[in-house]
Amino acid sequence: MKSDKNIRKIIHEKCSDYYDEMEQFLKELVAIPSVMNKAEINMPYGENSAKVLDVFLKKAENLGFKTRNIDNYAGTIDIGEGKPELGILCHLDVVDAGKGWNYPPFELTKANGKLYGRGTTDDKGPAVSVLYGLKAAEETELIKKPVRFIVGCNEENGSDDLEYYCKMEDLPEKLYTPDGQYPVINIEKGMIRGKFRKKFSDFQSEKSILKIYGGNTVNAVPSEAFAEISNLTEDEINIENGFSYEILKSSIKIISKGVSAHASTPDNGKNALTALIELLSHMNFNCEASDALKSLSQIFPHGETNGEHAGVKCSDSKSGSLTLVLSVLELDNNNIEGIFDIRFPVNFKSEEINNKIQKTLESHGFEYQCILASEPHYVDEKSEFVQTLLKVYESLTGKKGNCIAIGGGTYVHNTAGGVAFGAEMPGKEYNIHCADEYTVPEEMILNAEMTANAVIEICG
Ligand SMILES: [Zn+2]
Repeated sequence: MKSDKNIRKIIHEKCSDYYDEMEQFLKELVAIPSVMNKAEINMPYGENSAKVLDVFLKKAENLGFKTRNIDNYAGTIDIGEGKPELGILCHLDVVDAGKGWNYPPFELTKANGKLYGRGTTDDKGPAVSVLYGLKAAEETELIKKPVRFIVGCNEENGSDDLEYYCKMEDLPEKLYTPDGQYPVINIEKGMIRGKFRKKFSDFQSEKSILKIYGGNTVNAVPSEAFAEISNLTEDEINIENGFSYEILKSSIKIISKGVSAHASTPDNGKNALTALIELLSHMNFNCEASDALKSLSQIFPHGETNGEHAGVKCSDSKSGSLTLVLSVLELDNNNIEGIFDIRFPVNFKSEEINNKIQKTLESHGFEYQCILASEPHYVDEKSEFVQTLLKVYESLTGKKGNCIAIGGGTYVHNTAGGVAFGAEMPGKEYNIHCADEYTVPEEMILNAEMTANAVIEICG
């Protein structure tokens, strides 16, 4: 390796020396709530996203880098001239704070050896580490080929910052993002989101389902679902674990509680919606709504996450099994409407999966509309680029480096050959997108070292 033991030691010292500066800068960035907002003139994602980009690029300039603001969609920070040999990609936008924080989400708080705040891991913290890692690498005077650090402002809302960037410039062929996890994510499953619907002609009957609603996030296993039912007596409700009920004025409300999980890992959750559907499908209603629920309980049986009964079960050795989550459902007087989220393995195409589920839903009388289809992302594990990143990981952690496949999409999903390299350590939970998101000082330093060593390996 080019970054031999000696160089690794020098880099470790430099990055450790930069730690206080890194923490101070992260504090500044966390204080800017760069959640996507209404577009304003020359600010496509609102004022705070433009501000965080400006602050970041100014810091990079002060550290001696050449920078460029691409119309407040993204920015570039360059080492060297000409076509970049390596690109590193981070995002400066964050998701909303949400509820349940023990610390102020938009103030960096140091407690129990951790740094709490929105964006500390996703992805402002890693962005700061990359910046100082580049600085450390540059100071070694070992970089011979150009490197480009790209910071975008729209990863959390569809990554159209990258689309805009690609209209202006090509992305480097070798590209990684510390917006996922270590060691290297080289496989991301494909994704389909579909909407189905059935209209009712008769609705009110003696005992009927007035309403069902559950799930408000397309890409998550719903943790709560509700049904309101008229002319039902308390004795008729066969309440099992996970359900409760409330007596309303002219109906009974059944509440189903589950456990939320990301749609790419549905086995970590418990679907409150499919549980409710199953419960209701066993009760005796005489209405079209009830027939529709029976169909849904056949297509999306409670506890099944591999899409078997929807007709889409498949798997491959590279990326594992398809996953399917019924994530949103709404039923009222006129119709029933639902949305599901599928993550499918890399050896398949969205069209074939989509056709299959369409056939299943239509055979049960549902109208179907595909609302999103994205093909899988795959980068060869044996490529020199991926192998180099794995070696850097191994040399700095002493752990075995291997590639991983995930169901979620990272920032590089729609790029030609990009992979995710960090910044989460395998098996650790950093509460990204949740309350009390955090990073730790040692990992900020380590992430900077990963950057510096990777840059020296690839561009030295
Ligand atoms: Zn992210």
